[in-house]
Amino acid sequence: MSKQWLQPAFLNGTFMPLQEARVSVLDRGFLFGDGVYELIPVYERRLFRLGAHLDRLARSLKEVQIANPYQDEHWRRILRDLISRASDSDLSVYLQITRGVAPRDHGFPQHVEPTVFIMASPLVAADPQQLVNGVAAVTFEDVRWRRCDIKSVSLLGNVLLRQRALDNGAAEAILIRDGFATEGAASNLFIVRQGRIKTPPQGTDLLAGITRETILELAGLHGIPCLEEAIPHADLFTAEEIWLTSSSKEVLPVTRLNGDRVGNGLPGPLWKRVHQLLQALKHTPEI
Ligand code: PMP
Repeated sequence: MSKQWLQPAFLNGTFMPLQEARVSVLDRGFLFGDGVYELIPVYERRLFRLGAHLDRLARSLKEVQIANPYQDEHWRRILRDLISRASDSDLSVYLQITRGVAPRDHGFPQHVEPTVFIMASPLVAADPQQLVNGVAAVTFEDVRWRRCDIKSVSLLGNVLLRQRALDNGAAEAILIRDGFATEGAASNLFIVRQGRIKTPPQGTDLLAGITRETILELAGLHGIPCLEEAIPHADLFTAEEIWLTSSSKEVLPVTRLNGDRVGNGLPGPLWKRVHQLLQALKHTPEI
């Protein structure tokens, strides 16, 4: 049996190996993608930016009208317990809550318990080559819905866009909506142009990424100016640097866009700076 199935999981109040976790086919997560999720990185058995992840989870739940099944302290206890059961110390904790199990009908069911599922998998670090050479990205029109601020498990749009990028030999799709670059299929976007770092402002067109927020905070702490400002599509092609951020990829330099070089075709100096700051923060006890 593959090692994956022995990883620890938590389902509706019970800890178990992943292979034992079972969910009904009538679960609304399965039938409708009716649920929300979080992905929390764990470094040296410490949950990174847990408070921010729990806040975003609470917000997503509120937006889709699912009652938060636990108080923050209870979430923290469950997550720490799960981590203590894992064999690796650097982990990726995936947490999903769906509206629950009910006869199939679009409208919300009455009196249903949400399904709570969590699993802890070994963290897959960024490929060192990607940090040396950067990655390729391609731009596509954003075909997703208009509530990209909700971290919903309905990810078909994101899945199709990412696959289209992969089919085009790129690591990520940079999405364009109404003439502006918003985010990646599973990442947030930063650019450096005329020496200024910019990321699109929060809103319904993109997810308020925890890594994005962390980088804005780090930049502020270290006196690196960083603006939250809309990025016209055309500005991507005259950017000196482009970065993609996420909890699993941290901060990745994009060095090719639609087949052309970004800047001089190598990861830029500002990327190096924020990447180093983020590496240092990962190993600092929670702030
Ligand atoms: N945008 C989208 C669409 C994502 O899927 C993700 C990662 N799940 C992000 C942004 C980055 O968010 P975070 O930094 O919290 O992982």
